Amino acid sequence: MINKLAIIGVGLIGSSLSLALKQAGAVGQVFGYGRNRGNLEKGVELGVLDGFELSIADCVRDADVIVVAVPLGAMQPVFAELKPVISNTAIITDVGSAKGSVVAAATAELDELVSRFVPGHPIAGTEQSGVEAGFASLYQNRRVILTPLEQTDHDATSVIDAMWHECGAIIEYLSVEHHDKVLAATSHLPHMLAYALVHYLSGLNDHDEIFRFAAGGFRDFTRIASSDPVMWRDVCIANGDALVSLIEQYQQELDRVAAAISSGDADELLKLFGKAKSERDSLIGNC
Ligand code: NAP
Repeated sequence: MINKLAIIGVGLIGSSLSLALKQAGAVGQVFGYGRNRGNLEKGVELGVLDGFELSIADCVRDADVIVVAVPLGAMQPVFAELKPVISNTAIITDVGSAKGSVVAAATAELDELVSRFVPGHPIAGTEQSGVEAGFASLYQNRRVILTPLEQTDHDATSVIDAMWHECGAIIEYLSVEHHDKVLAATSHLPHMLAYALVHYLSGLNDHDEIFRFAAGGFRDFTRIASSDPVMWRDVCIANGDALVSLIEQYQQELDRVAAAISSGDADELLKLFGKAKSERDSLIGNC
């Protein structure tokens, strides 16, 4: 049981965590910090927060767990503000979509307190943001990856593992590097494809007509291009090397498809589509 949870950045991910823990009866009080009073007032109104503060120091006072749920680019200044004000017993975690940059920021700012920092990433979300987008079942049967460091305190990891378990999540452990490589392929690359496709089509002269005739497949494929641009800018900056390497490999794959089409290689196309379909069909059964 967490007596007081402090959430720094009360958006989709932070508010869903609060609602899930409250529903499970696994938290006493939840306090939020943000820059925008209106968002935090809404959080109280919706039952996400029991209270809020406009200063990080006030928000984390007496908190046993502090969850940093701001965009990746804002993590380092938040850790810098946390360092002088956290209690001897508080445990810190984050929810950032890339882990290398967050671990570097935490190591730089938290010094010896980094032993009480447990890096984490819930593999769950929607294209919506803000406190109103949160819902209690977001993490139900979804994976949460924890990437503790060599110096991370085992008890701190157990507390964060138990917290996500209470939300109905399945907890997995990866190294920071492995996490960033895998997520670049399964999450970051698909977002780049969706953004690039919609951006490209919107630049065409007849884009109004193209979008007018867009069917379900286009909607499914491009849904994630409605995700928050700030969050995805920060993911690209944070995990740029892994992402660029995958984009280059994907460009080669597109070249292979284009070559098969232009040479009328029906067998090659059928082989490619057949393999992709069977891979996806078997994967969806496990998701
Ligand atoms: P969100 O809905 O936009 O919420 C982020 C919150 O952080 C906002 O409510 C904002 O509140 C606060 N914030 C923004 N910039 C800030 C800054 N510079 N300093 C302090 N606070 C700031 O975003 P989210 O989707 O919950 O994502 C939060 C984190 O979760 C990100 O690190 C993201 O990588 C990760 N994540 C997201 C998803 C997803 O699908 N969305 C999935 C897994 C992990 P104020 O405006 O009140 O300051």
